[in-house]
Amino acid sequence: MTTVHFTCTDCAQTIEVNDAMRETILETGCPVCTAAATEEDFAVTCE
Ligand SMILES: [Zn+2]
Repeated sequence: MTTVHFTCTDCAQTIEVNDAMRETILETGCPVCTAAATEEDFAVTCE
């Protein structure tokens, strides 16, 4: 099972995301503060 977490570099909010949410965040930015996001802001954890 693979889990992806987004951590905002601006507001430090951490959110578990799926592929669709990941695409949305890359396009529109952080869901909390709308700061721009990059691939580096996503961490993949394999369990
Ligand atoms: Zn943010």
